[in-house]
Amino acid sequence: MNHNLKYKRILLKLSGESLMGDQNFGIDPKVLNYFADEIKKVHDLGVQIGIVIGGGNIYRGLNASSQGIDRVTGDQMGMLATIINSLALQNALENKGIYTRLMTAIKMEEVAEPYIRRRAIRHLEKGRVVIFGAGTGHPYFSTDTAATLRAVEIEADAIFKGTRVNGVYDSDPEKNPNANMFEQISYLDVLKLNLRVMDLTAVSMCQENNLPIIVFNMDVPDNLLKVVTGENVGTAVGNFPS
Ligand code: UDP
Repeated sequence: MNHNLKYKRILLKLSGESLMGDQNFGIDPKVLNYFADEIKKVHDLGVQIGIVIGGGNIYRGLNASSQGIDRVTGDQMGMLATIINSLALQNALENKGIYTRLMTAIKMEEVAEPYIRRRAIRHLEKGRVVIFGAGTGHPYFSTDTAATLRAVEIEADAIFKGTRVNGVYDSDPEKNPNANMFEQISYLDVLKLNLRVMDLTAVSMCQENNLPIIVFNMDVPDNLLKVVTGENVGTAVGNFPS
């Protein structure tokens, strides 16, 4: 075990949308392979890794009503989309020789193990990467909230939110070139300033459970490794003074 690790058990949240790469739908194998390489680097150090991946590249429940599909059905479709992404990520990780388990919040025994908290922790202790699929299993939630819930349940040291920007900014850096990035920020300020780090349910759940959120750019090689070893990358959200 490497003693320079700042975090020993993490929950990595990846968006489904990021899996599209240059495409406008579905899964780009190049991105999958890249994610697997980045995850392997921290797995090799002995970090225990849980992963939640979204489903936005395939289906998002919020779009359901505009397509004449009711919200609950749409959300169920979204949750199933996360299973497709989870299977793809599991396969990419196993191609790199990493042992993994996919646990699902919606039972489908032929495809994945049902989510059982104690079993998830046991898998992590044995060095398996655990992917948590199907969100919380309930409509009206997001995969950010599912990631927070699982992070709290498995007693992760922090939730790592991999994005395509460098951290949390005071305005959208993809629209405003003068946007400033925070090195650290309190949960309260994220909520007050309505900064779109994660949805409100997820952020307030992190606050309640004192779970740090690290927002960082997953598209920069080695960034995940740098955050885990305590280098100053991204934005930390925590109980900092406002
Ligand atoms: N979803 C849900 N309950 C959950 C998690 C997800 O109903 O606990 C549905 C919801 O419809 C959401 C979709 O799954 O839009 C895909 O997840 P999300 O949009 O969070 O994915 P991402 O933005 O990370 O790609």
